[in-house]
Amino acid sequence: TTKTRFAPSPTGYLHIGGARTALFSWLYSRKHGGRFILRIEDTDLERSTQESVNAILEGMTWLGLEYDEGPFYQTHRFERYKAVIQQLLDQGDAYYCYCSKEELEQLRNEQMANKEKPRYNGKCRETPGVSEGVMPVIRFRNPNDGEVVIRDLVKGDIVVSNKELDDLIIARSDGSPTYNLSVVVDDMDMGVTHVIRGDDHINNTPRQMNILKALGAPIPEYAHLPMILGADGARLSKRHGAVSVMQYRDEGYLPEALLNYLVRLGWSHGDQEIFSLDEMIEYFELKDVNVSASAFNPEKLLWLNHQYIMNSDPAHVARHLSWHMGEQGIDPTDGPDLVELVKVQKERCKTLVEMATISRYFYKDFDEYDEKAAKKNFKSESADVLQQLHDQFSGLDNWQGEVLHQIVVNLAETLGLNLGKVAQPLRVAVCGTSVSPPIDMTLALLGREKTLARLVRAVD
Ligand code: GLU
Repeated sequence: TTKTRFAPSPTGYLHIGGARTALFSWLYSRKHGGRFILRIEDTDLERSTQESVNAILEGMTWLGLEYDEGPFYQTHRFERYKAVIQQLLDQGDAYYCYCSKEELEQLRNEQMANKEKPRYNGKCRETPGVSEGVMPVIRFRNPNDGEVVIRDLVKGDIVVSNKELDDLIIARSDGSPTYNLSVVVDDMDMGVTHVIRGDDHINNTPRQMNILKALGAPIPEYAHLPMILGADGARLSKRHGAVSVMQYRDEGYLPEALLNYLVRLGWSHGDQEIFSLDEMIEYFELKDVNVSASAFNPEKLLWLNHQYIMNSDPAHVARHLSWHMGEQGIDPTDGPDLVELVKVQKERCKTLVEMATISRYFYKDFDEYDEKAAKKNFKSESADVLQQLHDQFSGLDNWQGEVLHQIVVNLAETLGLNLGKVAQPLRVAVCGTSVSPPIDMTLALLGREKTLARLVRAVD
């Protein structure tokens, strides 16, 4: 069966690039009825943090990228890596290297001076120059001849001559396994069939393939995804704004909108822009992934978010909105039903943060009227108008938008005022601001109790 994996290093939050890698790996496994693994590559003890592990797990959960196996932690597998390193030593596919830091540094400087690519010269390959006081590292004995062919499912065939690959360190002098070794052992043990990852790893691939061959393990398929760039053409980073997945949650994006944005970042299916998850799974093909880097476009993500806010099931939007209200100190149970609110507000806001903000007055009393709105709309005759509205509203048994609206229209007519002269003071009185949904919807949502109380307050 098809098995893919997402293998982040927990050295920061889950960022846009990582999330896209995870999504493509997840989609591939889902499309092929396979399994998806989450593996935390935490061997770099200095840079890995529990906080970052939590952020990655939280991000995966929020995006809905469920894994079938894991999370596995590489730090739990050191014994296994050591056994494999021993196996490679026993087979003659690895050797101890006693070259000192200074020696290697000198070699490197010479090579640089000769404009050669710095690489280990294989000094300890045949006869380890055991030297007192140097704790040896262990190197993989890379084949000298032949070539490695990566049949990359995105980039096509890539041929690397073994001459270009030097003998990689697989265990540090303290015996701890290095990154490339642990990845290889994990991909082998976990039965990974498709390695889908960023193309910043492409230089590791031929080395990893050689180690797999030495271990007699099957070679997985590889797909290297092109980089994501900022609008300025530089690699996407913090200075381009939000790059953490959870920051998008905090800014009021729906996870589906972000997933939809990510799937289009370097992949296309005709000119379709909006994909349900089922459509993504159905149409996703690695061969349709772009070969070149793609640029991150925050406006397009915002546009997609608006589309998802408008067109998703309002109950679903409401569940996410409820969280944002909590963040803004609004109690979503202290006002209109959130699903009804979403139906009224969805056209007006591109993010859920915005929706929570502009809906605040439905749930919480405002402290003061918006100054400009009050100045413009509260005139000498307004108190009388608002009093009359209050009296008529309070006599209603049926609190319904249409009925309320008719009262406003009739009163304007009776008083010989144009509609705005009645509706606007009313709006400011009950919302605190002159911007709100149409007055009938606003009043219906706000409900009898809040409307009447706020009219009393305005007349006082
Ligand atoms: N841990 C690596 C990273 O976060 C990914 C390794 C891999 O996918 O093979 O960049």
